[in-house]
Amino acid sequence: MDKNVIEKIEAIVGKDGYSIEPAVLYTYGFDASIFHNTPDMVVQPTSTEQVSEIMKVATEYKIPVTPRGSGTGLCGSAVPIQGGIVMAMQRMNKIRNISVEDLWVDVEAGCIYNDLNAELSKYGFFFPPSPGSAEACQVGGMVATNASGMRAVKYGATRDFVLGLTFVKADGEIVRCGTRTIKDSSGYQLARLLCGSEGTLGIITEITLKLTTKPKKSAYCLCGFENVEDAGRCISAIIAKPLIPASCELMDSVSITAVNKVRGNPLPDCGALCIVEVDGETDEVVDRDILIVEEVAKSVGAVSVTPTKDKDLINRWTDARKSVMTSLSALKPGCSSVSLADDMGVPVSQVPKAVKAFQEIADKYNVTVATYGHASDGNLHTKMVIDPTDKDEWERGVKAVDEIFDVCIELGGTVTGEHGVGISKAPNYMKERASELSSIRAIKKAMDPDNILNPGKLEQWEGSILRNLRYPCQGCM
Ligand SMILES: Cc1cc2nc3c(=O)[nH]c(=O)nc-3n(C[C@H](O)[C@H](O)[C@H](O)COP(=O)(O)OP(=O)(O)OC[C@H]3O[C@@H](n4cnc5c(N)ncnc54)[C@H](O)[C@@H]3O)c2cc1C
Repeated sequence: MDKNVIEKIEAIVGKDGYSIEPAVLYTYGFDASIFHNTPDMVVQPTSTEQVSEIMKVATEYKIPVTPRGSGTGLCGSAVPIQGGIVMAMQRMNKIRNISVEDLWVDVEAGCIYNDLNAELSKYGFFFPPSPGSAEACQVGGMVATNASGMRAVKYGATRDFVLGLTFVKADGEIVRCGTRTIKDSSGYQLARLLCGSEGTLGIITEITLKLTTKPKKSAYCLCGFENVEDAGRCISAIIAKPLIPASCELMDSVSITAVNKVRGNPLPDCGALCIVEVDGETDEVVDRDILIVEEVAKSVGAVSVTPTKDKDLINRWTDARKSVMTSLSALKPGCSSVSLADDMGVPVSQVPKAVKAFQEIADKYNVTVATYGHASDGNLHTKMVIDPTDKDEWERGVKAVDEIFDVCIELGGTVTGEHGVGISKAPNYMKERASELSSIRAIKKAMDPDNILNPGKLEQWEGSILRNLRYPCQGCM
């Protein structure tokens, strides 16, 4: 990194606010994906004004800047593939203001999701999206990826709660957009544009979120099935009833086997599972709804149905579901679970068709694929369990992934329901959004004319996704 740049950055954030230590730089080259690239500098600002000054320096010297939350992203969106500066937001973590009567909260972008909800719960409110990474991910990272999780079917995704935000443009201009009102029809919705922009349009520094009351009661039902298509049919049948569950998690047999092996058999041994949650204000409401879930599950062929309000049992099931991704790496010696086609979305009615097709594609390419996810909103995760040093396995995996994405697009779906595009979905994202690409490129050019914000991602990705891999894979690019 140029000596003049280092001096200018130090003058803005002080000696403790940046690093060029090789070990630190190496660490900030990862997120939770399969990719890695080492940046030249890590900067940790403490205010919007500091972010603005840093961006002015970056623009002057044409240095790439990759914003970073907690680095929990699964598709490489926070990996600085062109080096430069990683702008790490963890020191901007304050909850600034809560206005319960107006139903909003102002937070800094680096505030951790669970910390925000711990504070909101004191007032009986919550911010519902509930990603699996809730203990670690930042609200800014959630906005930048439009994150959600198991409660999206009933409560929506992050975008649905963003009333307004402050962001810093590539040239350092500070922009406040949106409102603190529940309704807003005032022209273009810039705050919405920043949702899902993955650090390519601006650095989000503060966010105003809408508050929602937290339901007082909930109950769960664990439904076991012979196969994953029956589990998929159960989800569509519950919704068609009509009953919108608070959450409904699907796990296939590969996921169940992995979790049972690693976590001491917390789940029944069967072909597929749905963990269904209902919530409401009274016991009568949740008792009525959980009975509907039981009846529907039996009607589509459930082999076991276990309703409960027991907290220990519920924690056992939900912990088991959360541990799928890590447990999969223990399925076969020398193998890892890798996120390639990790986050597709299809219309809920198409879930059974999609999961069947995923299995056929896995068989065709002789790769182990686990399917699980927040299936009541049609969001399906697959993980491939492969030897990550084996070029041939990667190549078969990528072919399988391309076909999985094709199936989802054909079924009227998307390549990513909640994790974002990053690197791993970039080529298929361009296929999915073909008719929008020229508009997307024009927006990027207008907001970031020198192309310094998280360059090379999304619509700018070129070539195979088998480069910048974090694994020592001989022959992979
Ligand atoms: C175990 C596990 C479970 C997960 N479960 C879910 C889930 O259920 N649902 C879900 O949606 N995701 C899930 N994820 C993915 C990930 O946690 C989310 O995408 C999360 O929103 C990322 O937040 P982060 O703070 O870690 O952002 P990062 O990973 O650091 O960054 C993500 C993207 O946002 C950009 N960015 C970050 N902060 C800013 C900012 N202030 N301004 C502008 N751009 C910014 C980055 O440049 C990058 O493009 C999971 C991940 C793991 C490891």
